[in-house]
Amino acid sequence: MNVLVIEDNDQNLYLVRFLLESRQHRMEEARNGPDGIARAIERPPDVVLLDIQLPLMDGYEVARRLRALRTMDAIPIVAVTSYAMSGDRQKALEAGCDAYVEKPIDPDTFADQVEAVVAAGRKADGSRA
Ligand code: MN
Repeated sequence: MNVLVIEDNDQNLYLVRFLLESRQHRMEEARNGPDGIARAIERPPDVVLLDIQLPLMDGYEVARRLRALRTMDAIPIVAVTSYAMSGDRQKALEAGCDAYVEKPIDPDTFADQVEAVVAAGRKADGSRA
């Protein structure tokens, strides 16, 4: 599948790319929110992996703007963040994310987690399938 990763940390991008490409997924990366939104408009992905702490625009705002795009109605967004507090998780879900993966990424389970979210799908009305 085509995965759009919006993340500003080089090491995380490297690791995520390795893990996704090992599963034959294709990954496109954006290093800030506006660039990520532009790429999602240009070519809607099958899933978005979204860092929350980003330059220019935080991940919550990115999620809200992606959710405002009709072409993104059915596309799952996974928040990937070191914020471990349940309140931040809730905030990510309220902003339009479907799921939450904590950093540091666990290389043994990360691709499985992402694939499971995509398999679960997302209804066009914005609620989880
Ligand atoms: Mn970051």
